[in-house]
Amino acid sequence: MSDAETPTDPGDSTAETSDSPAERAAKHTPSSVPLQVRDLRKQFGGIVAVDGASFEVEKGSLTGLIGPNGAGKSTTFNCIAGVHEPTSGSVYFNGEEITGLEPYEIANRGLVRTFQIARELSEMTVLENMMLAPRGQVGEKLVHSVTPGLRDSVVEQEEDLRERAWETLELFEIDHLAGEYAGNLSGGQRKLLEMARALMTDPEMVLLDEPLAGVNPTLEEKLLDRIHELREEGYTFLFVEHDMDVIMNNCEHIIVMHQGRVLAEGDADDIRNNEQVINAYLGDTV
Ligand code: ADP
Ligand code: MG
Repeated sequence: MSDAETPTDPGDSTAETSDSPAERAAKHTPSSVPLQVRDLRKQFGGIVAVDGASFEVEKGSLTGLIGPNGAGKSTTFNCIAGVHEPTSGSVYFNGEEITGLEPYEIANRGLVRTFQIARELSEMTVLENMMLAPRGQVGEKLVHSVTPGLRDSVVEQEEDLRERAWETLELFEIDHLAGEYAGNLSGGQRKLLEMARALMTDPEMVLLDEPLAGVNPTLEEKLLDRIHELREEGYTFLFVEHDMDVIMNNCEHIIVMHQGRVLAEGDADDIRNNEQVINAYLGDTV
């Protein structure tokens, strides 16, 4: 199988020169911008949590989404990940509209969020948690396991998964906890496991909502180091956080939300010097 032989090329240069900017934008195909959020709005009864937010996340970036409490960060995050259906607006991932899809459908496209370890999972070991995470396992399709010849591939896939699980646990330095019940982990270790599980799905982009909440400084550094390493490998991150310093020190692109809208965007210096941001968000901390 060779993708190189595929005759269609949506990024064809002749197409690009003949399109107007609006037409190009309408195609939503820039491979360097995996995530596009357009005019996103989410209302809960009378409360407008997200009020027309638009932004993009570049491939391979560690993009920070910050804003004061109640700014709409988590709601935006949940609308992207399929947890909430937006009231209006759209979300595109790799040029495909994903608005209103189920979280697993979005994960199958390569966009995952970290999940808190649910109660059932806390009664399983760390390794079992890892093995349960992946998508698209042959083993899930039971019919295959009774088809002669496919039995081996199921076993092989199980082995591959196990290997990937161990490698990922090693990466997060929690491999020594593989046999431990997830429920016995510290808050910080659990965060590491949540990240590790998200990576088992082989995503392109990972959404993190306050991944450092309740994490001690040593583990916090470890988590941030891993995120940077993974970013260098080509993963893309959207990092929702209320801790200004963490975002300023780690994200090359920062989106500031306020009252459900995007108030400002830019690098740490842009944000630090933005008067609207200072008024809305930094006013009482700087
Ligand atoms: P942030 O993550 O920036 O702190 P949220 O997205 O959690 O902000 O919340 C934005 C606004 O929406 C807040 O006023 C919050 O009370 C409200 N909100 C969030 N989730 C719900 C919900 N499920 N039902 C009702 N109101 C909600
Ligand atoms: Mg939040």
